[in-house]
Amino acid sequence: KLDIQNLAKSFGDLQVIKDLSFSINEGEFVSILGPSGSGKSTLFQMIGGISLPDSGSILIEGQQVNGKRGVISYTPQTPSLLPWRTILQNVLLGQEIAGKINKEKALEMIERAGLKGYEHVYPHELSGGMKQRVSFIRSMLSPQSIICLDEPFSALDEFTRLEMQKWLLSIWSEYKRSILFVTHSIEEAIFLSDRIIVLSSKPATVQKEFIVPFKRPRLEDLL
Ligand code: ATP
Ligand code: MG
Repeated sequence: KLDIQNLAKSFGDLQVIKDLSFSINEGEFVSILGPSGSGKSTLFQMIGGISLPDSGSILIEGQQVNGKRGVISYTPQTPSLLPWRTILQNVLLGQEIAGKINKEKALEMIERAGLKGYEHVYPHELSGGMKQRVSFIRSMLSPQSIICLDEPFSALDEFTRLEMQKWLLSIWSEYKRSILFVTHSIEEAIFLSDRIIVLSSKPATVQKEFIVPFKRPRLEDLL
């Protein structure tokens, strides 16, 4: 279980996040919506341990993890692929750090993401949407049980996005992970998640929280 308690973050005089609290249960899929600039990425950077909150706590099973990297899988809004590593090497990064490599699985995922043939090329040769998919595969292959995805499908065409959404749901149901998902699409949030948290704009604090009131399509119908 992930608990966010009374988180606050400012950049100079600008208070971006104020007294933000919410919890994610094990295996839950939660989407976060909020206006552009409301602090969603700032929140994810803190959850991912990349930056520190000014005050408040990020707790996993009651243990504070503020500033600890690698505990929660975090995929930034702008894909951060290592330019000197090939696509396959980039995808394997999370597993390398965890000391457990499954190259077969990585190759299978690259193919599933429509990137077959790109295993051994370098990131600069890919389009924005392709890089986004590489970044997504990397997070799906990493071993953490809580995964944060910051607008992972924003650069994709509608058709590819639907394919990726279905794939994400099938991975999520197979591995029973908790997923925190930022999106600007209300439709996407309703399609994917159990619960939606809406942040108010500056400073961000939970404005509304609601359980998705209707069932997402059955996985069997999607696959
Ligand atoms: P979007 O939906 O456009 O991705 P967001 O909700 O993710 O927006 P953030 O990227 O978290 O928004 O930014 C929130 C606010 O914090 C913005 O006003 C931004 O200018 C500011 N901000 C973010 N990072 C920094 C930083 N490193 N230094 C100064 N200000 C920052
Ligand atoms: Mg953002």
